[in-house]
Amino acid sequence: MLTPNSQAKQLILLSGKGGTGKTSLSAAFAHLSQKSGHPIPAIFVDADVDAANLGLVLQPDGAQQHEFWGGSIAEIDPENCIGCGRCEEVCRYDAALPTDEKHTLYEIDPLACDGCAACVYACPQDAINMTRQQEGLWFHSHAKYGDIFHAELFPGKENSGKLVTTIKQQARLAAEDNAIPLLIIDGPPGIGCPVISASAGADLALIVTEPSKAGIHDLKRIFETLRHFRIPALICINKADIYPQGVQEILRYADEQQSEVIAEIPFDASITHAMVQGQPVTVYAPHSPASRVIHDLWSTVVQRLNQTED
Ligand code: SF4
Ligand code: SF4
Repeated sequence: MLTPNSQAKQLILLSGKGGTGKTSLSAAFAHLSQKSGHPIPAIFVDADVDAANLGLVLQPDGAQQHEFWGGSIAEIDPENCIGCGRCEEVCRYDAALPTDEKHTLYEIDPLACDGCAACVYACPQDAINMTRQQEGLWFHSHAKYGDIFHAELFPGKENSGKLVTTIKQQARLAAEDNAIPLLIIDGPPGIGCPVISASAGADLALIVTEPSKAGIHDLKRIFETLRHFRIPALICINKADIYPQGVQEILRYADEQQSEVIAEIPFDASITHAMVQGQPVTVYAPHSPASRVIHDLWSTVVQRLNQTED
């Protein structure tokens, strides 16, 4: 049950690719979770660390900023390098390279280095050291509808799965400390490592899809990933009126998978207008066709969360 005395339930919103309306829906859920009547204290996590934008709508104050340190990469001390080339021989990532045609000195390409440290052991001069890299920042901010954990991965850095795990852990600790019963996670797009990190431990996933061929293909991939991790998944179709045959195909697929399409949101320009204005659509246009469906969708999601095991 969503009560302050129990461990926080985790709801994750996912989509096979960006641009399906997942963040708009996460923002609307943030608003609806705090609406008067039956507010449910919640903490929000923007797990799309490559392109975080939930904050654009929830308008966090950036209260606490933390460094995110990822893996290490090799660095050569030019004072000690004798240009023997052993590092180049052992490096399987072509990251150790001569700096001149005569190979008198070597250097490491930081973008190619995988941090395996093979070169450190191979170097006869002890000229190579592993150096930890700051790969991004993460934030714990206060926002209008509750605290939000979000992050920024620096360009060219690839440790997004670890960064997602970091902010999720921090959000869970904050929920525990403050008896918050719900985490709402705006997941990363796709099915890669960050999605798996963001989904770990989720009680319920809501897959947001569109009824296009590509959308259905992505839906199947994400559904299979979630099933592998035994995370129950429900489906919500956005722009459901643009391709009725696609909706029928999704309904059939959901049936075959013993899942359920719990909402069909019509195409509604107010969703885009709300994002441009930096507001949840349920605030910007509370009586729009999309907002009316999202209200019912939120009630269904809360009901299903309450049915998940504690
Ligand atoms: S193995 Fe060491 S000494 Fe040899 S080229 Fe590489 S860094 Fe220089
Ligand atoms: S740490 Fe590994 S990947 Fe990086 S330069 Fe050395 S051998 Fe290559």
